[in-house]
Amino acid sequence: MNSASKITPLRDHLVHPAELVSIVVPVYNESANLRALWARLAPVAAGLGRPCEVLFVDDGSSDDSLTILREFAAADESVRVVELARNFGQHSALLAGFRHCRGEIIVTLDADLQNPPEEIPKLIAAIDEGNDVVGGWREERQDRTYRRLASQMHNRLTSAIVGVQMHDYGCMLRAYRRHIIDTVVECDEKAAFVPALANTFAKRVAEIPVGHAERAGGESKYNFFSLAHLSLNLITGFSLLPMRVLSLTGMGIFILDAFFAAVLFGHRLIYGPQQEGALWTLFAVLFFLVGLMFLALGLVGEYVGRIYIEVRRRPNYIVRAIHGERAALDGTDSPRRPG
Ligand code: UDP
Ligand code: MG
Repeated sequence: MNSASKITPLRDHLVHPAELVSIVVPVYNESANLRALWARLAPVAAGLGRPCEVLFVDDGSSDDSLTILREFAAADESVRVVELARNFGQHSALLAGFRHCRGEIIVTLDADLQNPPEEIPKLIAAIDEGNDVVGGWREERQDRTYRRLASQMHNRLTSAIVGVQMHDYGCMLRAYRRHIIDTVVECDEKAAFVPALANTFAKRVAEIPVGHAERAGGESKYNFFSLAHLSLNLITGFSLLPMRVLSLTGMGIFILDAFFAAVLFGHRLIYGPQQEGALWTLFAVLFFLVGLMFLALGLVGEYVGRIYIEVRRRPNYIVRAIHGERAALDGTDSPRRPG
């Protein structure tokens, strides 16, 4: 492991010191990657030339991730580990990290080494240039084809919904200014998609190309269904547009349908009953409408579901403990604090 003691720690305990950089890493069963990650992340953090804290959020790992992370925290006072009580999902883990970090600039990155830590200084430089949010853009993405295609659609959709054009909303190698993260934490949304939410509050947004590697070890925590779940949350979480489009489509179809019925009726009056061809046309129309109704119901259900989840006001995550020297010195992080 690299000598991590070179990281400039923050010795005063101000709440949001102007120079401090916080690096937040969500971790779920990444024991195969953590040592390699830290061996690369520590020198980058040390080389930033400003105080830096690294917050690992253990999202209820069932392997030895937490033990390894606690080793890092014991060896280096700039490292803290936020231990969640169980697995709450990547974005909830990020929110937990955001609530406990104190930097003026906040950088996020995945623990599986798909995002090269060496790119962090580029992100920080772009924030220094006056951007509120800087997104990494994986120009050469090392993922399966279906993930890349799904991701293209996802990015177009997200750009349209959020109103901020970006090539890569899925890349978690990103940097944010403090006020953006404060607002994201304040929203305390149940199904937050952090990059999109942050962009809705940003005035200046930049995107810079970053490298992307195959997962160093272990397996992706996302399958087709969890990705679909994320996309649906995104669509319904950001706008009422799908509902409006649906209502307008419904209205359009209704008008067309009325016209169609009138033509059929007129046809029948003039020519009398025809052969079965017309029947099949009607079937086709019927099936189309039934499909549309189901879609509409599903979407309405999505919104109702979201309202239900918000109304329950269950915590997004529960912090079981915080490990690391700084946590012990600082009274603001009390253990067992619900999110
Ligand atoms: N992760 C997490 N909680 C989860 C799932 C994932 O904290 O429930 C973390 C994971 O450890 C990794 C990051 O989120 O650091 C991205 O996960 P993964 O690499 O599986 O996603 P992919 O790269 O396949 O999109
Ligand atoms: Mg990954």
